[in-house]
Amino acid sequence: AEVRELLLARIKDIPDYPKPGVVFKDITPLLADPLAFAALTDTLAGLAARYGATKIVGLEARGFILAAPVAVQAGVGFVPVRKAGKLPGATLAQAYELEYGTAEIEVHAEDLRPGDRVMVIDDVLATGGTAEASLSLIRRAGADVAGVAVLMELSFLTGRARLVEGLAGAPLEALLTI
Ligand code: IMP
Repeated sequence: AEVRELLLARIKDIPDYPKPGVVFKDITPLLADPLAFAALTDTLAGLAARYGATKIVGLEARGFILAAPVAVQAGVGFVPVRKAGKLPGATLAQAYELEYGTAEIEVHAEDLRPGDRVMVIDDVLATGGTAEASLSLIRRAGADVAGVAVLMELSFLTGRARLVEGLAGAPLEALLTI
């Protein structure tokens, strides 16, 4: 509960960003506070251990910032899931629906293997589209989904429901629900 309050206190609401009517949750004050950042990565690393994760996937771009220290702390590999066209090697790609149009993410095929238990980390779960597509990539690589952990779930966007199928019983943990 204390950790939650500390984290919540370090997230800034930015009204009308990136467009009018949207309240953007800015985590940069949290990252700039070493105690808050460490509390966050400690909590996520604890989940990685509980899930028995063997790989940590971070979702571009803010997911990278959280997932990389968690992977080091948990003693497992870090795997970036990137927007299409950014990874140099052989990739698996997954398209998904946005509010307007589609997007595509990719992972290096050789980074996820059968037998891996993969935990996905991101800062914010909004509509769930990005996380859902990442779960498809993990399964298509032949690996298992250990769980998804996010700092913040924007529950009014109902991303959790969108992830039910991809999770297939694996946990979705949100440290803060808004
Ligand atoms: P989704 O695919 O709609 O769930 O969007 C999630 C992605 O958008 C995540 O990678 C987030 O980093 C980003 N995102 C959406 N809303 C916010 C926000 O308010 N603050 C920070 N990132 C956000």
